[in-house]
Amino acid sequence: MSITALALFSGGLDSILACRVVMAQGVKVVALRFITPFFEADVDDVAAYSAAVQEKYGIRVKVMDVSHDFINMLKAPQHGFGRHFNPCIDCKIFMLRQARSLMLEYQASFLITGEVLGQRPMSQRRDTLRVIERESGCEGILLRPLCAQLMLPTQAELQGLVEREQLLRISGRGRTEQQQLAAHFQIHDYPAPAGGCLLADVNLAARFRHFSPGIFAEAKGAALVDDFRLLLFGRHFEPAPGLWFVLGRDQKDNERIMALRQPDDWLLHMVDRPGPVGLLRRRAAAELTALQLDELEATLAGLLLRYAKKVEGRAAAGVVRIERDTGVQEARFDPLADEQVQELMV
Ligand code: SF4
Repeated sequence: MSITALALFSGGLDSILACRVVMAQGVKVVALRFITPFFEADVDDVAAYSAAVQEKYGIRVKVMDVSHDFINMLKAPQHGFGRHFNPCIDCKIFMLRQARSLMLEYQASFLITGEVLGQRPMSQRRDTLRVIERESGCEGILLRPLCAQLMLPTQAELQGLVEREQLLRISGRGRTEQQQLAAHFQIHDYPAPAGGCLLADVNLAARFRHFSPGIFAEAKGAALVDDFRLLLFGRHFEPAPGLWFVLGRDQKDNERIMALRQPDDWLLHMVDRPGPVGLLRRRAAAELTALQLDELEATLAGLLLRYAKKVEGRAAAGVVRIERDTGVQEARFDPLADEQVQELMV
């Protein structure tokens, strides 16, 4: 009878090798690639991605979007955040729980990950690996092929489903052993280590911290996921307490902004020369008088004009179209001064 294992698959070299080490023992491996807005950059086209992984590494991969549940976890990760907005321990627990819940469906006997003891300071210490195992409900069923010989034997080893002697004892931050192993499997084209997770990006982290309390308070379901998608690009401003204004940096950003527009968002764009698209969200969060509304419009248009095509080398007045939930208006506005822009920028 064939034995099946489910693998957490990030697409990085360690997860590729973990799959191949276990596959080399005759175990059928299904690699699970969980995607969220924070780590999915290379999975735009699921069929093409799966075919490429199969062709390059000989690994069968199943892509699953777990954005909504993952973002809910981000609200209050039990083990807190790393240096930025990365809740690595809770992230691993979350992924393993997802994988464990699929074991029956895939008739899998155990789970595997590409974790290496001591490779990362927060999430790959021995005590942390145990916490992750315990809290995900994976004690005994989680095999880490790259460092298995440094860990207690798992059920898969004890039951003879895999041979412990054929597993590895890699530890620490070095990459030499992984590179040698990759060469052994004739894997030459693999992604560079680190990077990839936007939650660990220093600039985005500040933005996540600033806006996420408001997002969690206001948004539910698909809107919650879309709000986090909106945070990942463009320039962000808080033009008044509770309001959120986004400007595209380039054409691609502008298209993404328009695609993420919700019915009660305001959309702003230039009429008389090229410039960014702007989107105001949470308008309903602020009780504004008519006068304050006029001021808000001038501020938003002024921000747009600050980044619009310059006239004789300077930011200049221009006509801006404001599409509100209640109607459309076009008017001429002045650009904001740089100091005002800096004050509002998040
Ligand atoms: S870096 Fe990102 S993807 Fe990796 S464990 Fe941490 S939160 Fe999860």
